[in-house]
Amino acid sequence: MAVTRREFLGLTSRAAAGTAVGALVALGADLTPKVARAQELRIAGAEAHPSVCCYCSVGCGLLIHTVDGEIVNIEGNPASPINYGNLCPKGAAVYQLHVNPNRLTKVLHRAPGATQWEVWDLERAMDRVAELIKQTRDETFIERDANGKTLMMTPAIFSLGGALLDDEWNHIHQKLMRGLGIVAIENQARI
Ligand code: SF4
Repeated sequence: MAVTRREFLGLTSRAAAGTAVGALVALGADLTPKVARAQELRIAGAEAHPSVCCYCSVGCGLLIHTVDGEIVNIEGNPASPINYGNLCPKGAAVYQLHVNPNRLTKVLHRAPGATQWEVWDLERAMDRVAELIKQTRDETFIERDANGKTLMMTPAIFSLGGALLDDEWNHIHQKLMRGLGIVAIENQARI
């Protein structure tokens, strides 16, 4: 159905007048201070913890608001020289990364060929990862090439770091990877 501009304005003004806020706006009320006050109340009494968005290498600053140890809000940190309080849509939804009924909180393992997921405790999962890394490394380790040149590496394992890894983590991670003979080391920030 085609709607003219006049009909559209009539419809929206009637719809707006159907709510208290809409009626106030229709009467010309400036709600800007009220909206700002509502924003304040939303985080009243909350502790603010500076953090960094985990999603990409831009590294936007966040403020995480907590009440009694529970996260109640996450927003851009205006003091961050990277994003000045702004967040992209993904970063703006980061609250749902933590507070989300669909978030997985247990390790799920599906064996090759299986149709069902099995719940594993974290210890068992970590042991299995370590076991597979060791096995793969041992099976594919190359000490020397055909010309006798020393290589001491495995081409079978690739390491991909995340943007949130800090200097200290990367330092330790490099030592572990080089120690295992892994040479394919990359970071999400460069992809
Ligand atoms: S808010 Fe967006 S741009 Fe900033 S770090 Fe997160 S994902 Fe990257």
